[in-house]
Amino acid sequence: MQFSEFPVQSLMYITNRPETVFTHGKGSWIFDHTGKRYLDFIQGWAVNCLGHCNEGMIRALTEQAGKLINPSPAYYNEPMARLAGLLTKNSCFDKVFFTNSGAEANEGAIKLARKWGQKHPNAAGGARFEIITFDHSFHGRTLATMSASGKPGWDKIFAPQVPGFPKAELNDIASVEKLIGPDTVAVMLEPVQGEGGVIPATREFMLQLRELTHRHNLLLIVDEVQTGCGRTGKLFAYELSGITPDIMTLGKGIGGGVPLAALLSTAAVAVFEAGDQGGTYNGNPLMTAVGISVIEQLTAPGFLENVTQLGNYLREQLLALCDTYGFEGERGEGLLRALLLGKDIGPQIVEKARNLSPDGLLVNAARPNLLRFMPALNVTREEIDQMIAMLKTVLAQVG
Ligand SMILES: *Cc1c(COP(=O)(O)O)cnc(C)c1O
Repeated sequence: MQFSEFPVQSLMYITNRPETVFTHGKGSWIFDHTGKRYLDFIQGWAVNCLGHCNEGMIRALTEQAGKLINPSPAYYNEPMARLAGLLTKNSCFDKVFFTNSGAEANEGAIKLARKWGQKHPNAAGGARFEIITFDHSFHGRTLATMSASGKPGWDKIFAPQVPGFPKAELNDIASVEKLIGPDTVAVMLEPVQGEGGVIPATREFMLQLRELTHRHNLLLIVDEVQTGCGRTGKLFAYELSGITPDIMTLGKGIGGGVPLAALLSTAAVAVFEAGDQGGTYNGNPLMTAVGISVIEQLTAPGFLENVTQLGNYLREQLLALCDTYGFEGERGEGLLRALLLGKDIGPQIVEKARNLSPDGLLVNAARPNLLRFMPALNVTREEIDQMIAMLKTVLAQVG
């Protein structure tokens, strides 16, 4: 089929997209309407942690589709309960609420923190509601999560904002401490800022934050929508610093490509009362059945150790590029990495990489001066080598 035969003009405009319609994929490869294949180091935006069309996920999805798709969220279902059990068994949390997107999970985290702040008021008896978040953070696209985000310009585009999200600077504990007041109830951060350009919170900063929040009786919320589910080489990125947060949100990887996300908390913080929280599709068995397959594969012996090794391998290859081309360096955790280009050639590289032939390459420029890599967690070394070789071909064309 020709591109012009797809009625894409019926789609609401939200962003510029290339004239490419993707039709199928397998593992690290995705194919478009012309049959051209692309090595995919975007993977649905750090979502397809097991690559395209993973066998275990297909089996879980098709088996569940033939059994029960939607009993209504007013009742328990088997995959919902089993996945919650898997998550609490493998984390420091005791309670799980499932949602359909990361933004919705974060929205739930904000509500839960505010509810907890009503039950744990300040000295004057007032409900605490302020959540300190960070410059350049990204928490989603609902009104509250946009207000929580520190993306430049986002304070204006759908004004007025939801109040109660003062911004501190990542890896600067004094900037957090300065914002703590009588209304503060929590601090919320991404262990590695993803959309902000793959900027890790340091181990030291995470420890300082945990100590500071304990001292002021504040909740610590980690937004692990991008860093969770094996992306950093640990099942959850908070494990990298050895701290235990009070609330965590998951999205992206937990569904491996299907719309699934989750809000987790410790038992002490799970203070919702009947009617406070809900959602038509929460815990729907079709998606949670897939989540079970994903978590079982991620926690299989050796899987996460391999992610760490692959992350180290990717890091070495990116550092070698820095030597050859004089780039500034690289950063990240596990298989969430960025190459710091030192100049704003990211978007140009992204376009040229996609247009390579016969095979294209999909990478992302989270900021114009860097490239972000978020391959499948079961990518192979050979595929990393192929990606680097393709990138070199592109770099030969870029000034
Ligand atoms: C992608 C992302 C979100 C939003 O998730 P959606 O599923 O797009 O709503 C929130 N937080 C972080 C850290 C993300 O990377």
